[in-house]
This record gives sequence, C-alpha cells and structure tokens, in this order.
Amino acid sequence: MNPRKILVTGGAGYIGSHTVRQLLREGHEVTVVDNLSKGHRHNVPEACLFEMDLADTESLARLMRKRRCEAVIHFAAFIAVGESMRLPSKYFVNNVSGSLSLLSAMVETGVRHIVFSSTAAVYGDPASSPIRENFPIQALNPYGESKVMVERILEWYDRIHNLTSVCLRYFNASGADPEGGLGEQHDPETHLIPLIFRAIQTGQPLTVFGDDYPTPDGTCVRDYIHVNDLAQAHILALEYLIQGGASERFNVGTGIGHTVLETIRTVEAVAGKKVPYVVGPRRDGDAPALVASSDKLRQKLGWSPKYADLRTIVEHAWKFASKEL
Ligand code: UDP
Repeated sequence: MNPRKILVTGGAGYIGSHTVRQLLREGHEVTVVDNLSKGHRHNVPEACLFEMDLADTESLARLMRKRRCEAVIHFAAFIAVGESMRLPSKYFVNNVSGSLSLLSAMVETGVRHIVFSSTAAVYGDPASSPIRENFPIQALNPYGESKVMVERILEWYDRIHNLTSVCLRYFNASGADPEGGLGEQHDPETHLIPLIFRAIQTGQPLTVFGDDYPTPDGTCVRDYIHVNDLAQAHILALEYLIQGGASERFNVGTGIGHTVLETIRTVEAVAGKKVPYVVGPRRDGDAPALVASSDKLRQKLGWSPKYADLRTIVEHAWKFASKEL
C-alpha cells in the first residue's frame, strides 16, 4: 500500500491508538486529533498528536489543509451505553454534532473519504444469529442511536457531496497489542474482560448480569474481536475507499460467540487464578446474543482475524493489565 496521509480522530483512545500504531508501522503519515477527554496522551507519539475538539470546525479544516490529509478515520465518541440512557444529550451532542463538524471540515477542504467507527448496537436485539449487515437497524439506547444517525448522515453526504464512507460495526473490541504499551484503559471501565481482571486484582467480585438468558449456560453471548484485527479492518477500508470503492457497511467480529461464564473460565485459565463473581440481575438493554457474520468484510476487503481465539485475546489483554509487558 502507498503511504497515505491520514487524520485519525480519537486516536489516543483504545481502538484509535492501536489503529494509529498499525498505520505508523505500515509507513503512513498520521495526524491524531483528540481532546484527551477520554484518550491518553501516552497512547500516541507526541509528534502525531494535536489536542483539539471536534466541535472546532475551523481548526480541524486548517489542520487538514496543513497536513494535506487524504482521508479520515473517525473514532472520537462517547461509548458508555448505560450513561447514554441517563444523559442522552451528552451522546447526541458529542457523537452526532462532533461528526457533523468533522464532515463540514472535510467538505470545506475536499477530503472525500471517511472510515467511521460504528457498532453492533445499531442492531438492537436481533431476531437471529449470526448478524448480517442487512438485518433491521433498531438501536436500543442513545449511544447506538447516535451511531445510526451518523451512518445515515454519511449516506446523505455521499449522495450530495460525493464523500464516500465505510462504517465498521464493531462487536466486542478486546485484547491488546502483543508488543505492549497499549491496552484498554477506560474510566469508568464497563467492559467485561478488564472488569474480570479487576475482580482478580482487587478480590471484589464481578457481577454477572443475569444467568437466565436463552443461551447454553444462561449468560449473554458476545463476539470478542481482537483490537489489532479491528485496527487492520480500518486500514483495509481506508485503502478500499482511496482506490475508489463505494460506500459500505461491514460487521467486524470473529463469528464465534462466548458466554460470560466461558469468558470468566478463559481468564482463570490464562491468569491461573480464580475469579470471584456473583450473579446479579440482567443489565438494562443487554441483548442475549450478539455474534457477527463478517463474511462481507472477508469477501470484499480480504480481511480475516489474526487472533480469533478468545484465549489469545485474553492472554494479550492480561499481559497489559498485569503489566507484564
Ligand atoms: N457483563 C457482565 N458483568 C459486567 C460487565 C459486563 O456480566 O460487569 C456482561 C454483559 O452483560 C454482556 C457482556 O458481559 O453480556 C459484555 O459486556 P460489555 O459491557 O463488555 O460489552 P457490550 O456487549 O455491552 O458491548
């Protein structure tokens, strides 16, 4: 692939920083825009980082011109489903208005391609599994709805401004770069695997959200996808768009589902320690099972996951969490 000049919003966050590292490894020129409200300065090389808010359209446009950006990967967004049910405007303002500001800057500067960080949450509680891209869109919370809204806005920007987009609908991003130094560090942390680690480290039991779902052991099934495999999907999508590919939506998952209890057992095997847990009530808005069909991404972009098994994903995440790297 030719070296490209890429703007990455939210590049100091979890998935963003792994993608930035991968882009740099492949020789691309990366400009990270992050307001560091959630991201971490130490996640990206100093020279790449521009501390800036997405709402600042003029500064974004100036930066894109100065750095001659050819395309954008857009991660910057709030991601906590539970919080979005309490504070919907926070999610609509940041995730939707922020994206609109970015799109204005792109139109103004003639940047015509964007890879957008979407989510399996756009499908709500799907009737069957695995989930394909043509399943009904029906978000169950303002977080998911904010992603649906941006996906729809992108369709209009394609029709009106010839701005092409790939929306990547992530399943459960997890793991860490095996080379070390990067990993999941959300505050507050709401994701299962880091919370299982925390239970081991603190002795405070994890709460399993419900064990009466119609699944093999009664706990929810999720498709855990290694963050480096997600990063690779962005880079393939970017090249596809730059080469003239039409706008598309793709699921990104392994196609393999694991229950919460299986995930706990996998962590126990990797860490060599028991996980203290209790079973609590279901969490509002949780779908029983979310497993991706990634056939479209595999066929159209030639993507395939390098780290598809849960044990490897957990090993990489555990090395980061236990500071072994
Ligand atoms: N989960 C759990 N206890 C926790 C956090 C998560 O049982 O403390 C479950 C949750 O109900 C879901 C799965 O773990 O079935 C993955 O949740 P996570 O928040 O990591 O991702 P989501 O699937 O909500 O995007």
